[in-house]
Amino acid sequence: MKTNFHTHTQRCLHAYGSERDYVREAESSGLEILGFSDHAPFPDKDYGLRMKYDELSDYINEIDRLSVEYKEKIHLYKGLEIEYHPQYNSYYKKLFTEYKIDYLALGEHTYSVSENEMKNIFFAETTKDYIEYARNIEEAVETGFFAFVAHPDIMFINEAAWDVNCDKACSIILSAAEKYDIPLEFNANGIRRGQRYYSDGMRYPYPHEKFWGHLRGSKQKVLIGSDCHTPEQIRDNAVIIAEHMCSKMDLNVIETIF
Ligand SMILES: [Zn+2]
Ligand SMILES: [Zn+2]
Repeated sequence: MKTNFHTHTQRCLHAYGSERDYVREAESSGLEILGFSDHAPFPDKDYGLRMKYDELSDYINEIDRLSVEYKEKIHLYKGLEIEYHPQYNSYYKKLFTEYKIDYLALGEHTYSVSENEMKNIFFAETTKDYIEYARNIEEAVETGFFAFVAHPDIMFINEAAWDVNCDKACSIILSAAEKYDIPLEFNANGIRRGQRYYSDGMRYPYPHEKFWGHLRGSKQKVLIGSDCHTPEQIRDNAVIIAEHMCSKMDLNVIETIF
């Protein structure tokens, strides 16, 4: 069964295509399930590169409309990709109760280090930041709001070579995922960014084989996510490469989160 639970739309202002464009493309690529997970807004502040808060209802309503229209052809889920900041706990709840979303993908780009301090993982200063990042994921996973952890190894987009802090960060994330039985996403968008030389060798920024190598032959659920930002990416070569990498590493790939 072909599925994808990590799908963006033009509403986030850095992706292309409407919800309808993605549904059409998913159907013609033979997907049976398409989950939308555009970058969620926060109600009180615009953190950038995400949909505007006043578009949230339109997004939900449009997916509802398409669900009915395409119900014989493809099953749609309405989700959002969002960061975990503890001050928004009531908002996460509200997304389920009032906006009736089906799932939240934990997509950490910024993360909280303390009540008033947020950092961006794309600009980690040292690998020590990876440990803070991992702790934030651990805390997020404990809340039960999230259906899977998107790109749990995105920190390796930074230049730093692998060291003990990387081992520590991996082990925090992997233990939390195991404890709370939450799938980890093997993200194809990192593959789209291409391989290059890092200080620890030629590799993709993510998925990092050293991270995933820990899960070789384990029961940890792994979800392959396209993280498409154009309709054509729904099932492109990066997704096919992701599938090959997962099977080569003997990962327990699941098709659906429901
Ligand atoms: Zn994005
Ligand atoms: Zn994404």
